[in-house]
Amino acid sequence: LIRNFCRTGGQRQFDRALGLIGKLAPAMAVATLLSVSVGAQETLVLTNATLVDSVSPDAREHMAVTIAEGRIASIVPMAQLDAPEDARVMDLSGRYLVPGYIDTHVHLSGGEGRAWTEAMLGFFVHSGITTVRDMAGDVRYLADIRRASVVNEIASPDVHFSSLMAGPSFFDDPRTHQAAAGEIPGEAVWMLGVDSATDLTRSVARASGTGATGIKIYANLPSDLVQQITDEAHAQSMQVWTHATVAPALPADAVEASVDSVSHACMLVSHISPLHPQAYPARPDPDFGVFGDDISGYTDLFERMVANDVTLDATLFIYERARRAREADPENPPRLRCPISYAGLIVSAAHEAGVAVTTGTDGYADSDTGLPALFDEFDLLAEHAGLTPHDVLVAATINGATALGLADETGSIEVGKRADLVVLSEHPLIRVENLRMIDLTIREGRLYSRDAYVPSPALAAASAD
Ligand SMILES: [Zn+2]
Repeated sequence: LIRNFCRTGGQRQFDRALGLIGKLAPAMAVATLLSVSVGAQETLVLTNATLVDSVSPDAREHMAVTIAEGRIASIVPMAQLDAPEDARVMDLSGRYLVPGYIDTHVHLSGGEGRAWTEAMLGFFVHSGITTVRDMAGDVRYLADIRRASVVNEIASPDVHFSSLMAGPSFFDDPRTHQAAAGEIPGEAVWMLGVDSATDLTRSVARASGTGATGIKIYANLPSDLVQQITDEAHAQSMQVWTHATVAPALPADAVEASVDSVSHACMLVSHISPLHPQAYPARPDPDFGVFGDDISGYTDLFERMVANDVTLDATLFIYERARRAREADPENPPRLRCPISYAGLIVSAAHEAGVAVTTGTDGYADSDTGLPALFDEFDLLAEHAGLTPHDVLVAATINGATALGLADETGSIEVGKRADLVVLSEHPLIRVENLRMIDLTIREGRLYSRDAYVPSPALAAASAD
């Protein structure tokens, strides 16, 4: 089975998901996915909350937040609250309000099936995740999922997705055949082979017409085409999200093109490595041991990322997963050789230089905590890249919103923005693990209580095949 578009291949990742599902199995007697809904017209007032926002490291105590029509209508100290008479009031005494979390790297259309996708999205939204970015797949499927989410047919984060472009030589990759089923990979609008003869104006317009909000630049393109695709996408109000090494285009080429997001921290190694990969996947993966812990070679790159507002979708999770796989089976190591410690060094240096790091997982649950992989990414960013709890919160919220072109809509607790919020039972600035202490997710004003969440049997059903 071809599961998804992840760099390290889908099967191992899927096996990991089964590990989690096993842990959840005893709770699966009740099959319903519960969510508490607030009517679109109903006004909700959250009282006595401590606000911990992405735009300030200072907690604000005794605050009242009013939500109307899915958006934040007011934020005032309790003493100044003048709540509408018919408003529903929720007392958050002793609780903390943070912006909703964003996973900037998921794959939802890998062939697991609709029930599984809906179950995973329900799992996400009951775990504080209010927005996800899908990083390449079947846009026909993703557009349908997005519609169901928008009209509240399913409990789900807001789903954004990409339309893929790559060099024509990339489309013998079997994953492109699954994602383009019924069409010819490389010719399909969303699995498009691009060369110097491609009409980019028309191609970007057609990609936009699929409902995708970003172009994913995947592989096998030279720097001039990366620049031209990026310019055309931006001219048509689309975001551009790329692998950090496109091959032959290098990280600096993508950064100079002013893409919005580069994925996979260790792919930045092409910036300092003498190996210059000409196509995907890079062979051989460099011997990361030779680089030691000197990351000064990246300084100029990080400066340009800051200057061009290029965010870093670090995906430390995939390097940790590879580490565990190496440990479990040294005879058959994964082809991803980058040590988690080196990935952490890169992210640490990027973060220190002012690069906006985002929280993308590129994989499913890899823990026995009963929470999505996003929380493993939080812990890895703290442990290996030295991010403080507030840094992690910033990465998980406003930085993700910026990468998706949604910084005016979500990612912070501000009047006029979507009411995408998480209620926590523990202070999120004390330790990063407290970002897991979720009582309630609010997505555009709709409430998803953690207590009411029961894992869907579809998560387990997918394990049977
Ligand atoms: Zn991926």
